Amino acid sequence: MIPFSNCWPYDIVREDVYVQHCPFCPSQHILLPIKSDDVKSLYGGARKITLVFPCCHSRLRIIDADGDYLLSNRVLRRNEGLTKRNTDEGELSS
Ligand SMILES: [Zn+2]
Repeated sequence: MIPFSNCWPYDIVREDVYVQHCPFCPSQHILLPIKSDDVKSLYGGARKITLVFPCCHSRLRIIDADGDYLLSNRVLRRNEGLTKRNTDEGELSS
């Protein structure tokens, strides 16, 4: 089971795949360089791809996917859902 922190939600419009915002930069509504069939080929970890975000050229290894999320081999959302426990992140308040 891949942790939720490694998931990134996507949307499919016709054959195109979008994300609401980039995990690496402030860009929003990004058209990914893959098609809906490519996402389906990732289901269940059947295939793995390296996704290059067109906004900032950040590379992201996608190792699995389902109907709503792309699953990466790295943590994409360290803080969401952990706002009350952010001391675990090692952040020190001054
Ligand atoms: Zn970006």
